Amino acid sequence: MMDNAARRAAEPHLAPVPDACYLCKGGRLRLRHRARVAGTQPEGAAAYNCTSFGHRSHPPIWGCEDCGMMFQWPIQSPEALLQAYQDVEDPLYVAEKDNRYHTFRRVLRELGPAQGRTLLDVGAYCGYFLDVARDAGFRPEGLELSRWAGNNARGLGFTVHGVPLRELAAKGLQYDVVTLWDVVEHFADPREELKAALKLVRPGGRIYLSTIDAGSLLARVMGGQWPWLMDMHLFYFGRRTLAMLLEEVGFHVTDARTYTHIISADYLLRKVGASFTPAAPVLELVRRGVPSNWSIPFNLGDNMLMAAERPL
Ligand SMILES: [Zn+2]
Repeated sequence: MMDNAARRAAEPHLAPVPDACYLCKGGRLRLRHRARVAGTQPEGAAAYNCTSFGHRSHPPIWGCEDCGMMFQWPIQSPEALLQAYQDVEDPLYVAEKDNRYHTFRRVLRELGPAQGRTLLDVGAYCGYFLDVARDAGFRPEGLELSRWAGNNARGLGFTVHGVPLRELAAKGLQYDVVTLWDVVEHFADPREELKAALKLVRPGGRIYLSTIDAGSLLARVMGGQWPWLMDMHLFYFGRRTLAMLLEEVGFHVTDARTYTHIISADYLLRKVGASFTPAAPVLELVRRGVPSNWSIPFNLGDNMLMAAERPL
């Protein structure tokens, strides 16, 4: 195989080619999905909303032939990303509040009895998981960069840190549990962020993460049609690659399973319509006939939940 310098010269349309795999540092990289822009796209901060409909629009996505890691390259500067996340406002998320609560109550069971444990929810957004965790007996705090979302969470009575993980870790705070629900795929540098997360977990404590599973059967079968290929998802982990990174930074992985979202039928049909535009008119008709409070457990096996321990 040509080295990357030779490939750059031979195929200038592929430039810039990343020099090495983000995860294993190997040089055998392959362009998995060309850059694309699909239909009308949200602009600026709106592209980074939790409920963003900007599916299948993204920079080039590369895959490592050795470890299987997939990642966007080139990516936006960390400064531009930070700015975008600070500016996010997302009223549709609030409209889906009840279903977020259902999802979080279900996932909270994975954490075991609260027993007064302290918890940091990274990417706490509007504070719904904090609320569910507090009800169950945890003592939760949040970390949220979006001023709009963070203020929503503060309005529920929570301490919400508005700084990146690295800054919070530098303060020497520690928690029994740290959670990152659908967050790790958004980081510009997940290795550094997870190193910071390790410092924030007390020895013997746990971290829980959910993310899209690029190694799942659905993702592999759908290939370029997998709807989670999008601008705001910078890293596409599978169970193996996420476990590799967690172990590399010092965690001991204890569990991996699929993650179930509870969503309304209305939201699902809008998401599907945004993903498969030819079907959108039909889905819109169906959507009008469906009660807006219908909720569905949604699990196609392409979202995963991983738990890991900070060794004593
Ligand atoms: Zn690799």
